[in-house]
Amino acid sequence: AVAPQLPYLSGLNPEQRAAVEATEGPVLVLAGAGTGKTRVLTTRIAHLIATGRAQPHQILAVTFTNKAAREMRERVTSVIGPVAEGMQWLGTFHSIGTKILRRHAELVGLRSDFTILGTDDQLRLMKQVIEAEGIDEKRWPARQLASLIDGWKNRGLGPNQIPAGEAGAFASGRGGKLYTAYQDRLKTLNAVDFGDLLLECLRLWREHPDILEQYQNRFRYMLVDEYQDTNVAQYLWLRLLAQARKNLCCVGDDDQSIYGWRGAEVDNILRFEHDFSGAVVIRLERNYRSTAHILSAASVLISKNQSRLGKTLRTEDEPGEKVTITGAWDSEDEARLIGEEIEALHAKKHSLAEIAILVRISAQMREIEDRLVTLGVPYRVIGGPRFYERAEIRDALAYLRVVNQPADDLAFERIVNVPKRGLGDATIQVLHNHARAARVPLVEAARFIVETDELKPKPRSTLRDLLTSFGRWSKLSETMTQSEVAQTVLEESGYTDMWQKDKSADAAGRLENLKELVRSMEEFPDLQSFLEHVSLVMEANESDTTERVSLMTLHAAKGLEFDTVFLPGWEEGLFPNQRALDESGRAGLEEERRLAHVGLTRARRRAKIFFASNRRIHGLWNSTIPSRFVDDLPEADVEVVEAPANFSYGGTSRFDRMAPFSGSSYQTPGWQRAQAHRSTTDDGGYSARRSGDRRGPMMIEGELVAKSTGAASSFKAGGRVLHSKFGPGTIEAVDGNKLTVEFDKAGRKMVLDSFVDAMG
Ligand code: ATP
Ligand code: MG
Repeated sequence: AVAPQLPYLSGLNPEQRAAVEATEGPVLVLAGAGTGKTRVLTTRIAHLIATGRAQPHQILAVTFTNKAAREMRERVTSVIGPVAEGMQWLGTFHSIGTKILRRHAELVGLRSDFTILGTDDQLRLMKQVIEAEGIDEKRWPARQLASLIDGWKNRGLGPNQIPAGEAGAFASGRGGKLYTAYQDRLKTLNAVDFGDLLLECLRLWREHPDILEQYQNRFRYMLVDEYQDTNVAQYLWLRLLAQARKNLCCVGDDDQSIYGWRGAEVDNILRFEHDFSGAVVIRLERNYRSTAHILSAASVLISKNQSRLGKTLRTEDEPGEKVTITGAWDSEDEARLIGEEIEALHAKKHSLAEIAILVRISAQMREIEDRLVTLGVPYRVIGGPRFYERAEIRDALAYLRVVNQPADDLAFERIVNVPKRGLGDATIQVLHNHARAARVPLVEAARFIVETDELKPKPRSTLRDLLTSFGRWSKLSETMTQSEVAQTVLEESGYTDMWQKDKSADAAGRLENLKELVRSMEEFPDLQSFLEHVSLVMEANESDTTERVSLMTLHAAKGLEFDTVFLPGWEEGLFPNQRALDESGRAGLEEERRLAHVGLTRARRRAKIFFASNRRIHGLWNSTIPSRFVDDLPEADVEVVEAPANFSYGGTSRFDRMAPFSGSSYQTPGWQRAQAHRSTTDDGGYSARRSGDRRGPMMIEGELVAKSTGAASSFKAGGRVLHSKFGPGTIEAVDGNKLTVEFDKAGRKMVLDSFVDAMG
C-alpha cells in the first residue's frame, strides 16, 4: 500500500519501490550499473527507521569503502533527519568486524585494545615465523606465505580447516604449520591482520552461540552493497548473522565483479538464492545515470562476456554525446590531450569535481599527475597515494637524494637498510651517536665509523661498500643522463632486485612504478631539477574545499559517478592487462572486460576513451594496438576523434591504416608514423617530446626491435649509435649493458645500451 506520508518513496520507480518495501525476508537486487541499487539501499534504511520497523542501531549496513559508508549516512540523514546518526553498524566488513571483535576480544584470546597489523608488519611477522621454523626465507619468501594465508582467510578457513592437498603449497608441506605458528604469534602480540577481523568473529560465534544469538537479535535488518565482490568469509559471516531473522537484503551486479583476484566470488550470488530459500529476486532495468550512447556502448561491450547472468538495461535519457575514442602518439601525448580537454571543459564552466580519470594500473598516473600539475589543474588521487608518495617511489627518491646531496639524513636513513643488508637498528644507533656528537651528517659519521672498530666486521664492510657505491653513483652524473644514473643506482643497490624476487601480488606494480619513475626523469636536464620538480608536485596540495579532478584506478571507481570520465590506456597488454590474461586466461579476460564496463558506466554525460600508439610496458617501448575492448564497442555509439589539427604526424591521419571496428586484427601504422614523427620533430623543438621519442622503439623495415636493459648487449665495438644527450658516436667497448662510446662532439662517455639507438 502506498503511504502518501512517505515522500522519499515517490522518488522511486515501481521495481525500486518493491525492493524498498519488501522489508521482511531475504531480498536480492540483481541489477546493472546506475539502476539505483545504492539508492534503494539508502531509501530502504530510511524506510525501516521511518516506519518504526527498526531503530537505527538495529540495522547492519555494509558498504565496500569507508567513503561509501559516509555518503550513505549523509543520504539517509538527508531523508529522515539526524536520527540516522544513530546508525552504529554502518560501515565496511572490516570496520564492523573490528567493532564486534573489540567487544569480545578476551573470548578469542585477545585484549580489547588489540592492534590491526598493516601489510608491512604482517610480512615482518611472517618472516620471523618462517625463520623460526628453520626455513630459508629467500627460497620461501614471506610474501608468498602471506598471499597463501590471506587466500585461506578469504575463504573462511582457519589453520585447522585447510583442505588436505593445499597445505603442501609452501615449504614442502609446512604451510599449515606456519599458518598456526603465525596465528600464535599474533595472539602473543595481541594483534590481528585484516583477514582475522572476520575470521575471529566466525570463531567467536561458533564457540559462543549465545553471543551469536545476541547479534542475530540485535540486527533486525541487514543490507549489503556491492554484493558481487564479497568473498566466502564475508558470505559466511553474513549468513550466520542473518540465519535467525533472514532479513538480509543484498544488492549487486555480476557484471561489476572485479575483485576475483582478491578472493571475491560471484558465486555468492548463486549461493544466496540457494541458502536463503524463498529469496525475492528483484531486477532493476532502468538506468538513471548515463545517457543512451554511453549505456548502449557499455551494454554491448559486456555482452561479449560468456560468464554472466545476463540482463537488459534501458534508459529514458537522451542519446547525448557519443563515446569518444582518441588515439595519441604516446602516453605523454595522451596525458596532454586529456589535459587540454579538461581545460576546455573547465573553461565552459564544467566543475572539476565532476571529472574523473580512471586508469588500469597506478603507474599510468605519473604522467597524468605531472601534466595536471603543469597545467595547474587541482586533482586528488582516490584510494591510494599519489604517485610520488608510493613507498617504492619514496625509496627510489631517497637513493637519488643521497646521490644528489649526501648530507640528506632522512633519505640516507630510509634506504641504508633497504633492501635488507644487515645494517639494522644497532648500526643506525652507532651512526646516530657519532653524528650527534660530532655534529655531522649521517653519511659523514658513517665514513668515520667504518675506519673504526665500532661496528662488527660484517656490517662494517657492508657499510663501507655502500659508501663506496654512493661515491661512485655521485660521479655517474658526469657521464650519464639522470635516468641512466637512476637506473644504475636502483640496479646496483639491489633495490630493483628486491622487488623482482618478491612474489607478492603488488610487486609487479611496484616495478612498473619504478620504471615509470626512471622514464619520467628523462624530461629533466639534471637530477637536481628533477628532485625540485618532485617536491613541487608533492606540495601541490590544495585545500580540501578546492574543486578537483579525481584520479583513480578503475578498481577504486566502483559505485561512483561523474559527468565526464576519461579512460586512458585502452591498449592490448595494458587493458586487458597481460598479467590477468596470463594468470587467469578467459576468466581473467572477462574480469578485465567487467572492469572496462565499470569504467564506462561511471559516466553520466561523457565517456572519453584514449589509447596511445607507443607505450613503455615493463620498461620497453612497445608499438601498441588499441584494446580489443575498443573493438567491442558498437560503431553507432562511438565517435573516433581526430588528433588536433596542429598535431599531425607528417600529414598521416592516425587512423588511416586502422580500420576501426572491423575485427581485432588491425594494427596502427606504427613504423610509418614513427618515421614521420621523427622527421617532424627533428628541429629539436619540444624537449619533453624529443626525450620521449629517443627511447622509442627502433623500427627496421616495419619490425619492432625491442631492446632489453638487463640482457646481454647486442651492440658491438665499432658500431655507430645515437644518444639523446651526447649525439652520435662510435662504440669503443661493450661491458654487459654498459657501453663506452667515443661521441663525435661530447668525447668519451660510458652509457647504458638501452639509452642509445643503433645508427645505419
Ligand atoms: P552502481 O552499480 O554503479 O553502483 P547503482 O545501481 O548503485 O550503480 P545508484 O548509484 O544508486 O546506482 O544510482 C545511479 C544514479 O541514478 C544516481 O545518481 C541516483 O541518484 C540516480 N537514480 C536512481 N534511481 C533513481 C530514480 N528512481 N529517479 C531518479 N534518479 C535515480
Ligand atoms: Mg551502487
